[in-house]
Amino acid sequence: MTGSEPCDACGDPIEEALARTVQLNVDRSEVDSQRLCPACFADWIERYRKQMQPKAPEREINGDTDIIVD
Ligand SMILES: [Zn+2]
Repeated sequence: MTGSEPCDACGDPIEEALARTVQLNVDRSEVDSQRLCPACFADWIERYRKQMQPKAPEREINGDTDIIVD
């Protein structure tokens, strides 16, 4: 019995060899761990990266905008 567990994201049973467990520290207090299949893992990482990225200032140039860089 290999006991394949379902992916936390899509519910597909995943082989243990392919199982990925992701842990993330939220506000240095909470740890979230999920078991994801490779596809969902890649997807999750992608989303996580985007979330963690500092909001890129969208340069909206509409009319006069004073941008002061010190
Ligand atoms: Zn999945």
